[in-house]
Amino acid sequence: MIWDTSVLPSPRQYRPITRASVKKLPQWGILDAEVQEAIEVVSTVLPFKTNQYVVDELIDWSQVPHDPIFQLTFPQRGMLSDSDYRLIQRLIRADADRETIQATARKIQERLNPHPAGQMTHNVPHLDGRPLQGLQHKYNETVLVFPTAGQTCHAYCTFCFRWAQFVGDADLRFATKEADDLVAYLRRHKEVTDVLITGGDPMVMKTRVLARYIEPLLSEPGLEHIQDIRIGTKSVAYWPQRYVHEDDADDLLRLFERVAEAGKHLAIMGHYNHPMELRTPMAQAAVRRIRSTGANIRMQSPLVRHINDDAQAWNELWKEGTRLGCIPYYMFVERDTGPKHYFEVPLARAWEIFREAFQTLPGLARTVRGPSMSAFPGKVLIDGVAEIHGEQVFCLQFLQARNPDWVRRPFFARFDPDAVWLDDLEPAFDDEFFFCDQGVGSPEH
Ligand SMILES: *Cc1c(COP(=O)(O)O)cnc(C)c1O
Ligand code: SF4
Repeated sequence: MIWDTSVLPSPRQYRPITRASVKKLPQWGILDAEVQEAIEVVSTVLPFKTNQYVVDELIDWSQVPHDPIFQLTFPQRGMLSDSDYRLIQRLIRADADRETIQATARKIQERLNPHPAGQMTHNVPHLDGRPLQGLQHKYNETVLVFPTAGQTCHAYCTFCFRWAQFVGDADLRFATKEADDLVAYLRRHKEVTDVLITGGDPMVMKTRVLARYIEPLLSEPGLEHIQDIRIGTKSVAYWPQRYVHEDDADDLLRLFERVAEAGKHLAIMGHYNHPMELRTPMAQAAVRRIRSTGANIRMQSPLVRHINDDAQAWNELWKEGTRLGCIPYYMFVERDTGPKHYFEVPLARAWEIFREAFQTLPGLARTVRGPSMSAFPGKVLIDGVAEIHGEQVFCLQFLQARNPDWVRRPFFARFDPDAVWLDDLEPAFDDEFFFCDQGVGSPEH
């Protein structure tokens, strides 16, 4: 095992930077007054947290405010509508009291669709009539697990709207109970091969808490059908020290090794938005250490305006990732939630960026699929734009669907240069989408 820690000095203790501490950053002083005010105003309404590693090693302060990682973690003026922005700005400038400001902020938050695509109400599985709140089961072969203690992140992405669920701290008792539910559910669902542990970020959990979820999957009788364990995480980009320096980093790697020893596959689904996140020695050390345990790293990320709407950046990300032994997996279209007007990219443009980034990739990096929308009926891939019988159309297909029979059947939508999501699309040729009259096909669990 290559457990080297020969990396540059870097903060070993995780240090968050929040609204309360941001003004103490040495970099604060070099920001324009307007940018400073935007951080203050927007973070009143939307969550803001970053950390010392992101600030010191990922952001190029000479490029701020255009630097992609600055856009990724610092609140931006354009994230609020002009009128909302001015409303809060006036209150802050007038030194209004906290309660007035917070009440106004809450009203704005409620308008911003904090729970997209029925995430929280649909797909919740049941066990003997009891809803299992920490689980989601949408596609037959994969169950999602949301550990209570993993519902926060090492830094928050500006485009993410899971703030409604960011609660943080919970203890081992939750983990044990949730893991028991998971095991009981999986024993009865032999169609499930994959368990995807997600969040927030499960890697904010201590190794011993994470182990409560993983270990039963390796050893409990009746779970032989579980072949893959995935962990969805942004820690590889925001806090790679998790795998290198943290107190329980070595224990974590041993836990990963036990998965391979049990004959199962562990995939770290690394949320990488930008090649900068792979350039630091710390990030590369994390990749090496994870891979030395037998786990794979797959790379997935949404396409987001101001952050990575740039074919060159994706090309470098996938190439560099492949060089380090990571596997490019998905490019997602940003969901229709939160400050979407600031971050959204039209589907037609998303396809162009994907295509341009893909064209010069080595074959080994062409494992990536996209751009893909995780919409209500399933994951819809934009294959491209074509002209058929004189009509310009989007060519689409499901990569994953509520009904497995829908997968990989081409279908067509009228071309619309402004469409940003599946809901904006109309069927081409005056037809209907083939999945329309077939119900939503929710799995009966
Ligand atoms: C994306 C996704 C999965 C995993 O799909 P894969 O194509 O197997 O990566 C599982 N469940 C939900 C709800 C998803 O959105
Ligand atoms: S790491 Fe994931 S869950 Fe956390 S803020 Fe970013 S996108 Fe959201």
